[in-house]
Amino acid sequence: MKSVLNVLEQLIAFKSITPTGKDAIDFVADYLQKLGFECLIKTFGPNGQEVTNLYATLGHEAPNICFAGHIDIVPPGDEKLWQSDPFQMQVKDDLVFGRGTVDMKGAIACCLVAVSEFLKENKNHNGTISFLLTTDEEGDGTHGLKEMLEYIKDIEPKIDFCILGEPTTEHEVGDTIKIGRRGSINFDLTITGKQGHVAYPEKAINPMPIVISALKGLIETEFDSGSEFFQKSNLEITSIEGQNPVRNVIPFSVSAKFNIRFIDKHTPSDLAAKVAHVISQYSDDYELKYSCTSLPFVQEYSKEIERFADIVYDTCGIRPKIKTNGGTSDARFIHKYTQVVEFGLNCDLAHKIDEHTKICDLQTLYNVYYSSLVKLL
Ligand SMILES: [Zn+2]
Repeated sequence: MKSVLNVLEQLIAFKSITPTGKDAIDFVADYLQKLGFECLIKTFGPNGQEVTNLYATLGHEAPNICFAGHIDIVPPGDEKLWQSDPFQMQVKDDLVFGRGTVDMKGAIACCLVAVSEFLKENKNHNGTISFLLTTDEEGDGTHGLKEMLEYIKDIEPKIDFCILGEPTTEHEVGDTIKIGRRGSINFDLTITGKQGHVAYPEKAINPMPIVISALKGLIETEFDSGSEFFQKSNLEITSIEGQNPVRNVIPFSVSAKFNIRFIDKHTPSDLAAKVAHVISQYSDDYELKYSCTSLPFVQEYSKEIERFADIVYDTCGIRPKIKTNGGTSDARFIHKYTQVVEFGLNCDLAHKIDEHTKICDLQTLYNVYYSSLVKLL
């Protein structure tokens, strides 16, 4: 565990706020080169906002087992609210604090050290070990693994199985593996009324109660009841704006924003039509725009995924649940090229002030990554 904490401390010290982190990628590449890896570093994106990506390989034969992830982090927020410097790893009892401990520098430290230790005992292992890392996952992801996967797609041996160390744990490390994700669609709704004086409401049409009723109608709409691997689609309102600086005017229009996390029973256009149908029951003077940022996907529960679930069970002593909940991740790109399982630390603590993980969780994660190398190669 000392080696994992040592690598993690160095990773946390890089202020790799998305989409930056070239120095952290260079550090990982240097670590892997010393182990004999060939490292391909590639940047994409406009000048001054380049995103750095790394594909490192050791070996020339199948199967190619790949550890994937992102080295970028979300900003720490108000650093004064942290009990310690977010970029200086702090160990208190059995907890490790620092931005990125959970999402996901902790997982990267675990797989780097797992590979290093594995190679000490298994110099002549079968197959290929690879790493695929980016600095653009927490942002919009345009120039990260999406472009890197396309760039490396013809390099042999192609990736056969990918382990993505995103935080997936709900209570205990080992309880959850993710093999898909719900889709995400953002809506902008504007309902127009008739502006007027609040003292003469009969001479105006107030769009505010109309928006409130329409949104209530949307919240109460059951879009589906879920499916085998998906929890049901869910709508969350994120903003209601009357843009009204005074108190005596009924506004001309009101805008609202909401997001739907949706399952593979819908297409974005079907969903938008359902949303429009609900709104039309409350208003006939509205504008609805939408943009889908990711489509839902779920992979077949293959032999390989089952094998990984068995490794988790053997190592952690709990049978992992196979899930697709949570936000989006780079698995949305990776699954188009190869099988991918997501398996990492506790998702409750990601992106929070005082982000931290238990040392014993790092140990368990390290054990799973190490066993994966032993059993999959
Ligand atoms: Zn993450």
